[in-house]
Amino acid sequence: MRAVTVNPGVADSLRLVEDHPEPLPEEGAILVEALAVGICGTDHEIIAGEYGEAPPGADRLVLGHESLGRVLEDPSGTLQPGDLVAGIVRHPDPVPCPNCAVDEWDMCRNGQFTEHGIKALPGFARDRWRLQPRFAVGLDPSLAPVGMLLEPTSVVAKAWEHIERIGARAEWQPRTVLVTGAGPIGLLAALLATQRGLAVHVLDRNTTGPKPGLVRALGATYHTESVCELDFEPDVVLECTGAPVVVLDVMYKIAPTGIVCLTGVSSGGRTIDLDAGALNRSLVLENNVVFGSVNANRRHWDLAAAALARADPSWLDALITRRVSVEAYAEAYTPEPDDIKVVLEFGS
Ligand SMILES: [Zn+2]
Repeated sequence: MRAVTVNPGVADSLRLVEDHPEPLPEEGAILVEALAVGICGTDHEIIAGEYGEAPPGADRLVLGHESLGRVLEDPSGTLQPGDLVAGIVRHPDPVPCPNCAVDEWDMCRNGQFTEHGIKALPGFARDRWRLQPRFAVGLDPSLAPVGMLLEPTSVVAKAWEHIERIGARAEWQPRTVLVTGAGPIGLLAALLATQRGLAVHVLDRNTTGPKPGLVRALGATYHTESVCELDFEPDVVLECTGAPVVVLDVMYKIAPTGIVCLTGVSSGGRTIDLDAGALNRSLVLENNVVFGSVNANRRHWDLAAAALARADPSWLDALITRRVSVEAYAEAYTPEPDDIKVVLEFGS
């Protein structure tokens, strides 16, 4: 069968293997036929040789962590043949740490977790794959064209759950949300904000392309000015750029008792001037919280599946700006200027 693979640590080793072995029964009872995988920045880092780890004893890693497939067989009876399914990316560490011991692998303490298509587990960019029932998330049949958005949605479902848990420390009635960055994570974070009935503002550099229209279609406001120039103080910020200046600006801009959730991963290596005392003063005197959030556990994947099933299917479809057949895989992994989400499609 076909599989999109890299040699981790070796730049530009991306290759479509035509004779990849079938998934092993040990991978799980549920056999799945691949429909599509979504592509994100992590895939590009792996292809550049900066990230990624092959499974033990292998020299190549199958890519793909944003999965969508159709169940071929499930002797466990958890799902039925024909059901849409996505695979949870992260598996708990074997020690396990206190968090992995209770299936909160998104909060792993020792870093020994494994991840499909990223770290020591084969990815989903292959014709067939297997899942254990506990890592299989069923999807509403209406999500067939867009179900590969479940993985990025799980990341923002976790971010929102943690924002609300932090907010519950005191009386909390948030009204305005600022999302910085209108990539897939930012747009999905904005979708979940609108589902909560909040006034949503999305800030991005792009003045053209599909992003402004997608934001307005949510009933949200699109901004291209700097964070400092905004004429309101948000109660919640979801920072999705990782750009150092934006990260600092939102910490100053947040309203009293406000919460800043950082989801963007910065590359580091760039220093900027910072008045640390003034920032500390502002955070203390306003009871602000700034926290980081990554990955998602089973609870968040289930919340994400419910959120996607409630969303406008045509809006979700518009997030997918290119669909590329697996045979043309090299095109799919070559970024283009107006890309939001690029999807690699399997199927016969
Ligand atoms: Zn752990």
